[in-house]
Amino acid sequence: MVKKLVYCLIRMRYAIIADIHANLTAFVTVLVDMEHRGEVEEVWCLGDIVGYGPDPHQCIELLRQTNHVCVAGNHDWAAIGKIDTFEFNPDAAAACQWTATKLTPRDITYLRGLPLVIERDDFTLVHGSPREPIWEYILSISAAKENFAHFKSKFCLVGHSHVPLVFRYNHAGSCYFSQFPTNKVLMLGKERLIINPGAVGQPRDGDPRASYAIYDSETSQVELYRVSYNVGATQARMVEQGLPMRLVARLSRGV
Ligand code: ZN
Repeated sequence: MVKKLVYCLIRMRYAIIADIHANLTAFVTVLVDMEHRGEVEEVWCLGDIVGYGPDPHQCIELLRQTNHVCVAGNHDWAAIGKIDTFEFNPDAAAACQWTATKLTPRDITYLRGLPLVIERDDFTLVHGSPREPIWEYILSISAAKENFAHFKSKFCLVGHSHVPLVFRYNHAGSCYFSQFPTNKVLMLGKERLIINPGAVGQPRDGDPRASYAIYDSETSQVELYRVSYNVGATQARMVEQGLPMRLVARLSRGV
């Protein structure tokens, strides 16, 4: 009985979300799904709350209503003029300029205050990579291997590529890639890992469903979930706001 009580007290579950990208419909759907799966102590957000999508202010407000921590993403900084959009494609740059007109002074203050790196439990949280938190994509084994030298914790959580994946680094110094399958448990063991939970608001792995993960500190497991949301509703909002059609179309295909 006492043992059970102690377990209950120390059990912590954390939601890991990334790249909401102003997609309020997807974000709300993820939060509802999360709630159905049980209580979450804290939401860990890996940046890019805004950019691309039609509801930047509403997404910031909704995130702020949750118990959360969040790091800065490239779109968060670009929308407040903290970085240039010269590396953005024309559609992303146009969406960024539109986003800037929709932010309240309170939103701007919030985005400006986001840190580049947060450490929680055994995890380092960044948007792109621990080496280059704002811009670098970790999509290859070589990039992942180099980045293992740039964080001290056992695990690192990244977003930015919008693709759910896991890179492992073993004691022999080899780095390898492993799938992050939906609804299958990822056991955290001795290996150091770089984990990407995929994107809430603009998935790019060919699956249009919103993607996020939950970490359970008691069982040392991370599980990835995919959630269908009303893509058409987000697309209609984007058209209404005059956002680029290529950005509207890609949501249907998850690319
Ligand atoms: Zn992004």
